Amino acid sequence: MQLLDGKKAALAIKEELTQKTAQLILQGKPRPHLAAILVGNDGASETYVASKVKTCAEIGFESTLKRLPNNISEEELLNEIEKLNQQEDVNGILVQLPLPKHISESKVIKAIHPSKDVDGFHPVSVGNMVSGAPTFIPATPYGILLLLEHFKVETKGKHAVVIGRSHIVGTPMSILLSRNTYPGNCTVTICHSATKNLKEICLQGDIIVAALGRAEFVTADMVKDGAVVIDVGITRVKDETKKSGFSLKGDVKFDEVAPKCSFITPVPGGVGPMTIAGLLMNTYNAYLQKHN
Ligand code: NAP
Repeated sequence: MQLLDGKKAALAIKEELTQKTAQLILQGKPRPHLAAILVGNDGASETYVASKVKTCAEIGFESTLKRLPNNISEEELLNEIEKLNQQEDVNGILVQLPLPKHISESKVIKAIHPSKDVDGFHPVSVGNMVSGAPTFIPATPYGILLLLEHFKVETKGKHAVVIGRSHIVGTPMSILLSRNTYPGNCTVTICHSATKNLKEICLQGDIIVAALGRAEFVTADMVKDGAVVIDVGITRVKDETKKSGFSLKGDVKFDEVAPKCSFITPVPGGVGPMTIAGLLMNTYNAYLQKHN
């Protein structure tokens, strides 16, 4: 069994981007610039945004964090996005989800200009992805592709079983793995809460991507010998032995599944760091599109 160490793969990408940014600065060019909007003060969202902003600083990117109150109106938020759309030096915009209930996520996603849509959620980006055109791929699926590439995991002709069909993970992952490219060229089955015989389907998977958000759902009896297992899930589970009061669990029961696998991602330290790497790559690509 080989661990798909997301921290290691993400570090290699960050080092590459650090060097590229240093080159830009030597040439007198501006730095790539990511602007993040955080509405309210949800603990998990705060952590995710802080980590994105910190990583930008580490690699030499510019970053802006706009903190907006929980009771901001939809119109005011859309205005803030439009200001960032107009701001010449901003290459990528992300609005941390979820948003308060009185704001339409769909309107917010559509308000981001497609050329700055580094989360890859805008319908233009999704349409491009489906048609195989160059575009921004949502950060988590992109990070998973980069991870498979980093560890040279063979995907051609494999049967990939994706559990979960969300717009941010499961659905794009299934599309990307079926593309005629590397990583890809898989035969893909996408599963969801109405899927029957999930265990039997998983047992046919050469590659399993678990993205359902149920702690330790995938057990050893659902995984065939030699499978590649990508665990996207992050669930906070009450844990009184931890200072924070919780521990993070993946969707896979790691200890019993790992010995059966050829490759497996840990949680934490697997897909999480790669999601940030995917976002940084998208921001760098947005910068190149503007400056080349
Ligand atoms: P989501 O929007 O809640 O979607 C979950 C999907 O799983 C849905 O399609 C749902 O089916 C399906 N599902 C739920 N229970 C199921 C079951 N018992 N059997 C089969 N399918 C089931 O979640 P998400 O946003 O995709 O996120 C999934 C997990 O990944 C979460 O733990 C999230 O925190 C984590 N995540 C991690 C990262 C990272 O960077 N590591 C990034 C994004 C998300 P229906 O469509 O039928 O409801």
